[in-house]
Amino acid sequence: MSRVLVEARGVSKSFAVKGGAMQRTVGRVQAVDRVDLQVFEQESLGLVGESGCGKSTIGRLLLRLIQADAGEIVFDGRDITRLKEKELRSIRREMQIIFQDPFSSLDPRTPIGESIAEGLRVQGVPRDARRQRALEALELVGLEQYHYRRFPHEFSGGQRQRIGIARALAVKPRFLVCDEPVSALDVSIQSQILNLLKELQQNLQLTVLFIAHNLSVVEHLCDRIAVMYLGRVVEVGTREEIFESPHHPYTLALLSAIPVPDPNRVKRQILLPGEIPSPLHPPTGCSFHSRCPIVEMGICDREVPELAEVAGQPGHLASCHLRTGAHQHLGGRWARMGAGAG
Ligand code: SF4
Repeated sequence: MSRVLVEARGVSKSFAVKGGAMQRTVGRVQAVDRVDLQVFEQESLGLVGESGCGKSTIGRLLLRLIQADAGEIVFDGRDITRLKEKELRSIRREMQIIFQDPFSSLDPRTPIGESIAEGLRVQGVPRDARRQRALEALELVGLEQYHYRRFPHEFSGGQRQRIGIARALAVKPRFLVCDEPVSALDVSIQSQILNLLKELQQNLQLTVLFIAHNLSVVEHLCDRIAVMYLGRVVEVGTREEIFESPHHPYTLALLSAIPVPDPNRVKRQILLPGEIPSPLHPPTGCSFHSRCPIVEMGICDREVPELAEVAGQPGHLASCHLRTGAHQHLGGRWARMGAGAG
């Protein structure tokens, strides 16, 4: 395994909730709660979970686009948690983000070549060199040189996402956060963009954090996968470990929701009861206990499970009393979920 390039150490982030006529703070939403996460150099890590689980917040915290309330963000061995904006400038070039909706981040009155070169202008790169790099970036993402002078409205959704990728790549980053880059695209276009991202990640030796709300999107793209639920990472492992030997009931439920492209094969879907709880009032104990099909009341609703290593699988971590740690003797319940993994 290569070295760690980006790391979150015990990172937490909450946001104020405003209400009433005066828009006063009426509470706080704990978006991210004491998260530890490592992204290894040149790997592609998938971060998966339902809407509102905190995965996009983690991406922004790692890039220092927002400030953590607690914990540390480490980039390339350097603690960048409290660096001032001026000190961050040189590091920003190495870390870029691709958004779900690239159109909203493009100026409709600026030719896309100039939008792609904008990050280089901020860094003081001379005009000719900027133009050259923007043209190279267009070529990298499968667009033509004549597109440089075109405006955002002249492009389709898939082409706009290619522009978003070109803009991120123009500054030659080492770390790329892809925040649901295909969720807004037609299914037929999604696979083209996913293939492009995979090709670029390998050819340019990028380190990628790929945020998605379902596991099928990250299956072919990512080396490792982290699953999030209600502000916490509940399982991390290699793609094979997550798909073939999941150790958290929530991961199992997400896996069961992936459609099987074979009409003769029937797959039993695990339907979780209720909605994801409000982060304003998170459940006690294990945050998944209000929806968990194998919950053990008296334990799960009282004790927060540690994110602990799965026996015999170094690097595969899960946070479930019944699968790791002191209450592993209750693991027989696992069979109730129809899980094949030991
Ligand atoms: Fe379910 Fe309990 Fe495991 Fe949480 S700790 S995932 S509630 S079995």
